[in-house]
Amino acid sequence: MDNIKNYMLPYQGKIDGTPKGSNAARCTRVYEQIKKIAEKMRYPKWEEIRIGMDTFSSSPSAHSSTNIIYIPPMFLLDPSEIPSTFKGLPDNSPLLQNSQFIDSFIYWLNLNLDLSDLTPESLGTFQREQVVLFLKMLEKPDIYEKAKEFVLAHEIAHLYFNHGEEKVSSWNVIGQLRQASRWRNYEKDADIRAVETLCEKEGGIYLFKKFQEHFKHLHHTPQEKVVDKVLSSMLFTSKGDVRFGNSDHPSESERIEYISKVKLPFKLN
Ligand SMILES: [Zn+2]
Repeated sequence: MDNIKNYMLPYQGKIDGTPKGSNAARCTRVYEQIKKIAEKMRYPKWEEIRIGMDTFSSSPSAHSSTNIIYIPPMFLLDPSEIPSTFKGLPDNSPLLQNSQFIDSFIYWLNLNLDLSDLTPESLGTFQREQVVLFLKMLEKPDIYEKAKEFVLAHEIAHLYFNHGEEKVSSWNVIGQLRQASRWRNYEKDADIRAVETLCEKEGGIYLFKKFQEHFKHLHHTPQEKVVDKVLSSMLFTSKGDVRFGNSDHPSESERIEYISKVKLPFKLN
C-alpha cells in the first residue's frame, strides 16, 4: 500500500534537528512543539527526543527504544498555510464527495510538501480516505491544532511510559488489527497522560468524533472495489467505531468517554 517512497528524501528516517530543504522550517516547528510538550510532561529524556518522517499514509508513532517519534508529511502542515478553499468544510459538504476537489488537494500537497510522486493515481482507496479525513479535520482549524497537539502528546506519553515500539499507531485503523493486545491499556494511559499534560481535552474529543463520523460514513458508503467494500463494512460499525476496537484497542466511543471524564486542574496560561 505504501507505494509512495521518495516522498521527502532529505527527511527520511531520523531528523537530526538541522534538516535542510523547503520543509526544514516545518520540521523544526513540529520538533520544538514536541520538545515543549515533553518537557511539560516531565519526560526525563525530553531533550533527546528525535523526530523522523514516515511514509505518506502512515500515522504518527513512537519508538521508545530509540526515542524517536515518527510523523507523516501531512502532520507538518500548519492550517494557516493551507488555502481557505480547503478549510471550514462541514462533514457533509458535497465538495468532500467531489473527486476533482480531492484531487486538487492531493496536487496541492504534492507541490507544497515536495511529495514528487504523490498523485491521485498513486493512492489506494483508504489512503485517499485519509486525505478526506484530514480535510474534515480542517473544518475548525484552531481545534485541529489542538487535536494535533493531543496526538503529539499521546506519542510522547508512549515514550514517557516506555511502551516499546508502537509498530502500528492507534490512528491507523487498518494496521490496528496487527497490534498486540497490551496496547489497549497503553493507548488509554497515553490518551489520559496527554490530556492531563495539555490541560485540555477539546482536541482529543474533536479528533475521535471526526474519526467516528468518517468511519460511519465509510461503513455506509458503497466502495468501488469489492475488497474495499468488504473491508469498510468489516472494519467500521454503523456507529462509527472501529469494529476491532473492543479486542485490541479502545474504541472511539470509549476514548471520547474516558477523555471527557478526566478531571483537569484549573488552567493557567
Ligand atoms: Zn498510541
